Amino acid sequence: PYTLGPAVRDYDARRAAWLTAHPRFPAFVAPRRPRVLVITGSSPRRCSSRDGDHMLLRAFKNKADYCRVHGFDVFYSNAVLDAEMSGFWTKLPLLRALMVAHPETELLWWVDSDAVFTDMLFEPPWDKYASHNLVLPGWEDAVYGARNWLGTNAGSFVIRNCQWSLDLLDAWAKMGPRGPVREHYGKIFGKTLSNRAAYEADDQSAIVYLLVTQRGRWGDKVFLESSYVLHGYWKGIVDRYEEMRSKWRPGLGDDRWPLVTHFVGCKPCGGQGATYDAAECRRGMERALNFADDQILKLYGFQHESLNTTAVHRVKNDTGRPMDSDDEEIGRLLHPTFRAA
Ligand code: UDP
Ligand code: MN
Repeated sequence: PYTLGPAVRDYDARRAAWLTAHPRFPAFVAPRRPRVLVITGSSPRRCSSRDGDHMLLRAFKNKADYCRVHGFDVFYSNAVLDAEMSGFWTKLPLLRALMVAHPETELLWWVDSDAVFTDMLFEPPWDKYASHNLVLPGWEDAVYGARNWLGTNAGSFVIRNCQWSLDLLDAWAKMGPRGPVREHYGKIFGKTLSNRAAYEADDQSAIVYLLVTQRGRWGDKVFLESSYVLHGYWKGIVDRYEEMRSKWRPGLGDDRWPLVTHFVGCKPCGGQGATYDAAECRRGMERALNFADDQILKLYGFQHESLNTTAVHRVKNDTGRPMDSDDEEIGRLLHPTFRAA
């Protein structure tokens, strides 16, 4: 059967030895601050939709902004590392390759190209996951109870650099090789999972399938997170940004000010997506990107004229004494005390 590569044994002990031998690259950059690598990517090919590549550029700028504020590293992949793992499955070989190449990285955070960070201040509560290895957005009832493939989302999740995770990636990837295997598992998912037709296996259904069929093997190390928006379905969010701004402040990360707005089914780069009206998707993305960018621009005295336009204007008078202002809210993002070293 398919594997992502040679079985890695004794990984945790080997990684611990590497970390001891390389004290300049600690897995925790400060007490309670794991070293985090944000990983995203897109197809090696140019987008087929007219402004797809421009949207990808802006979506990546958004990730660069978020990572800079929080002191996270970021990796963008344009390669399909394994032809068997094409399409959205490509994140699995990529995660494995980065995991074993970077023993100093404690947590790897996969973020889809079409997911936008919309709370630049909020940071996941890393402490809370100290005894877990995989943090998925979602709900236990929906995953284990309803066996719903929409009970989680594979567009934004966090995985720890450890043996357990390498084993999980292997078990997960077994359902992904394109062709007959992917077709076969698609049919199984159609029967086993709720709400899902029998089309070819996708990575999100596959992780739900793994959890419901092998809960004993994996379940206790998986955290299903719903206390903040690790992945937020764009439809219920993109029309509320103005309201959020009038009522709340960044840093909440939950429904009041979602950490992530994910354009599920929108296919901004082109491709099959016919689920949603392209213009509606386009408008939503524009708004999400401007909403996020406003949180950054504000630090430098600028804002978008509205969430629907790329035009910006100055909102703070320029001054000859720039260091004199002490806006607390702005300071929290310009010089975050939580930032990694
Ligand atoms: N992706 C990639 N390389 C590819 C194809 C897809 O890295 O060749 C990534 C990309 O980040 C994309 C993600 O896989 O966002 C999942 O696909 P998509 O977002 O279209 O799925 P959806 O979230 O709409 O279900
Ligand atoms: Mn996506």
